[in-house]
Amino acid sequence: MSNKLTRRHFLAAAATAGAGLTLNTAHGASEKPVLLGGKPVRTKAFPSWPVWDKTEEKALLDVLNSGKWFRGGGQIVTQFEEEYAKLMGAKSCLATANGTSALLTSLAVLGVQAGDEVILPPYTFVACVNVVLMLNALPVFVDTDPETFQIDARKIEAAITDRTAAIMPVHLGGNVADLDTILPVAKKHKIPVVEDACQSHLAEWKKRKAGTYGETGCFSFQITKNLNAGEGGAILSNDEDLIERCYAFHSNSRGRKTTGYDFKYVARGANFRMTEFQGALLLAQMTRIEQQARTRTENAQYLSNMLLEIPGIQPVRMYEGCTRNAYHLYMFRYKKENFANIPKKTFVRALDKEGIPTSVGYGPLNKEPFIKNTITSRGYEALFSKERLARWEEQNNCPANDRLCADEGVWFAQTMLLGPRSDMDDIAAAIRKIHAHAGELAKT
Ligand SMILES: *Cc1c(COP(=O)(O)O)cnc(C)c1O
Repeated sequence: MSNKLTRRHFLAAAATAGAGLTLNTAHGASEKPVLLGGKPVRTKAFPSWPVWDKTEEKALLDVLNSGKWFRGGGQIVTQFEEEYAKLMGAKSCLATANGTSALLTSLAVLGVQAGDEVILPPYTFVACVNVVLMLNALPVFVDTDPETFQIDARKIEAAITDRTAAIMPVHLGGNVADLDTILPVAKKHKIPVVEDACQSHLAEWKKRKAGTYGETGCFSFQITKNLNAGEGGAILSNDEDLIERCYAFHSNSRGRKTTGYDFKYVARGANFRMTEFQGALLLAQMTRIEQQARTRTENAQYLSNMLLEIPGIQPVRMYEGCTRNAYHLYMFRYKKENFANIPKKTFVRALDKEGIPTSVGYGPLNKEPFIKNTITSRGYEALFSKERLARWEEQNNCPANDRLCADEGVWFAQTMLLGPRSDMDDIAAAIRKIHAHAGELAKT
């Protein structure tokens, strides 16, 4: 448990000492869960997403009526890049079509080639492994630290080989991976770090934004993300030359200053450009990002204080260096021992029925059959020795992650943290209710 959380926990415990029972009945723990025939804690919906008003409408209409829908003709995407870099405290930014293409562009420009290896966590979105496979490189999974849901940074060095061409930590759920352990190992072995910050807009490590520590930091603006334009992405870097090379890669080989019919090619590439419409939406959405982030943090801390009182519910821990959590997901561990051994799936279903939409979280990505199918394909067998592929299979073991996926990891979406405090009271009440009736639920 982080010091911060522990301290808060004790303060909260001291303040409510002896009041536990009163609280429980006040919030309906004595009522039956819906799964046992009771009434739901909540019938109201949580805040909807995305959020917009006339600001977005005007921004989109202005682009429409300008006829400048392409970043080459307009100035909106360029303006977004400048403002996003400023907000995040990075020297340079490149907007992209989506987060996946931000990751792919970063890895390709940093020199990840066919036959190379990339280190990544198994507790993440599938895009992370897809970009590695798209470059015909080998994804090397390092187990998860179940207390933080992040890559277990202490295990990265042992996974490095002479073919490791990049390390891709993911700041999962808006929490921040242990950069104090990752960055020195990367530096020692001269391996570039691509931070996947797709879920961690405004998160901070030692008061500096996550996504500004690696050679690049990649963001997604897909509709579920804390900053969104339906689709979109960005690469941040403090290396302006690197961003210029990313520009050429993302714009079919043509540099930032190439115009019109000036067909000069810098290097290989593809088309991953952002449209002016996306840029306009993002500039409008950015006027809300700080306030929304503050609301999520206040609600998340208030919720954690309540959940820490419930045996078997462990809100995710943050490393010492994480000075701001973006709470893209509110993540916690569920310990079935404290809930009469009812499996996670039943717990999640019971919460859903109480009107609290709950997710069982990711499955074990490293075990997806499509990965094995890819690396045993003709192309991979030409790129990697039989021994290397056999060793990959042997090493592709992430037992802590397996347990987290199967038994413990539970999430709420960021949108659930955007309403009033009373929404948090409902969440806690529903969990208390299930805890109080776990024995009966186990018999159903
Ligand atoms: C959303 C996400 C991506 C991919 O972003 P898209 O914009 O959907 O392509 C990559 N990594 C993580 C961790 C994500 O959450």
